[in-house]
Amino acid sequence: MSKQITSTGWYGVAGKENRRAKVHMVSEGGPVCGARPAGEYQWCSYGANYQYTDCELCRRYYVKQVAGEMPVVPKQVITNVVNCARCGGIHKTLSFRGLLRPQGQYTHWAPCPDNHQPILLKIV
Ligand SMILES: [Zn+2]
Ligand SMILES: [Zn+2]
Repeated sequence: MSKQITSTGWYGVAGKENRRAKVHMVSEGGPVCGARPAGEYQWCSYGANYQYTDCELCRRYYVKQVAGEMPVVPKQVITNVVNCARCGGIHKTLSFRGLLRPQGQYTHWAPCPDNHQPILLKIV
């Protein structure tokens, strides 16, 4: 059975950057990988944030139990946008990032430089 991942975070002392602290995905107050790190929980992000997580076991757990498939490795796509879906304008050399869990045909996104709403991109 897969555990409900409620947040992503690391364990340590608030305000003190601990370079050895790993970011885990968290379920029921502990890392889903079963690690029992010292220190108190420090919140990073809601839900299972694959991008923030640097614990390899948590990432593997997420892929196997939750995502069901390897997430697309975020990779940049630079392209021109004509007739922007968000503002109708033209944007030259806009940089799109990969969606972490693409659904359907759209795999990348970028914020519209005019109004910062997301523009979705499908690769054809
Ligand atoms: Zn972990
Ligand atoms: Zn736009």
